[in-house]
Amino acid sequence: MAKKQSFADKASKKKHIKTCPVCDTEMTRVKWIKAERTGASVRYRTQNIGVCKCNESEVYS
Ligand SMILES: [Zn+2]
Repeated sequence: MAKKQSFADKASKKKHIKTCPVCDTEMTRVKWIKAERTGASVRYRTQNIGVCKCNESEVYS
C-alpha cells in the first residue's frame, strides 16, 4: 500500500502538473499579462498562473 502511494507521489512530481481540486481539470501554466494603472501611466505585469476550467474564461477573454 505504501509503495503504491509513493509511486503516485513521484509521478505527480515528475510531471509538474497540478490538478484543480474544484473542477478536477489539469492546470495549464500560462503567462498572463495584467495591466496595472499607476497614476497616469499603465504598467504591465507578467504573471505565471495556472489556468483551469474555473478561470479560463477570465484569462483567455
Ligand atoms: Zn478549477
